Amino acid sequence: MGDLKNFISGIVPPKEQTQPAWWFAFQENKLLVYEKSPSVEIPCLIHFGELGLIVLRQNYLGKLDGRDCYAVELPEGSVAPYGMAFEGLRKVYGRLDEGLFWVAARAVQIVDWDRTHQFCGRCGASLIAKTTERAKECPQCGLLHFPRLAPAIIVLIERGSQLLLARSRNFPTKMYSVLAGFVEPGESLEEAVVREIKEEVGLEVTDIQYFSSQPWPFPHSLMIAFTAKYAGGEISLEDSEIVEAGWFAADALPPIPEKISIARKLIDWFLTKQGKPS
Ligand SMILES: [Zn+2]
Repeated sequence: MGDLKNFISGIVPPKEQTQPAWWFAFQENKLLVYEKSPSVEIPCLIHFGELGLIVLRQNYLGKLDGRDCYAVELPEGSVAPYGMAFEGLRKVYGRLDEGLFWVAARAVQIVDWDRTHQFCGRCGASLIAKTTERAKECPQCGLLHFPRLAPAIIVLIERGSQLLLARSRNFPTKMYSVLAGFVEPGESLEEAVVREIKEEVGLEVTDIQYFSSQPWPFPHSLMIAFTAKYAGGEISLEDSEIVEAGWFAADALPPIPEKISIARKLIDWFLTKQGKPS
């Protein structure tokens, strides 16, 4: 789902950069891009220094279609060079090559992890990056620190020719989506699906099937998508983060999420199955 078919992850950069590389540079969580309105482009340079910006930290990511990729953290207050701008990742989706977008989604998480994991959480010593895997090691107490990744399940529930859509308190607009929630420690993905559905809408489901997965870098989730069939119960929103939920037919949908999300891919799968592709 990440569409990184031609991406090979790597930790150690080449000894000397002799070919142009992709530079995914972030100030906070905003990506530095060339504005080609409406599209945007990632800087492709031998040395990032050509842009004349101060670099706080840099991480090698690997190769996309044989070309080296780097994640760069820029200090607050960095000014975008002429013709360039800092843009939020969601805003560049669809305006940037899909492969490059998903490397950027990877880069923003590495930058965030590097920035927030400079010191050991157990003893406070400065951490040292490992060269064999994406991790940092404490030279004093030996504790390993890995990039944060929060698994979340997302599930489409079918009842005949209808699907369940719900509106969360957290949604900015009057948009409806399938149910999602974070996996708790000690829980299997399937258990998380059953618990989340019970908690949010009070329903029972059966026939839980894996659908697909997608990295979701806002800020560091991994969405694992499932489909399930309604098995019993009435929609109940007690103790719920949901403000509205209901059953919808393919030809009478409320506003649904944009194409970038796996939620939309689940809904599109259902619509296609009902003979009404979106
Ligand atoms: Zn330590």
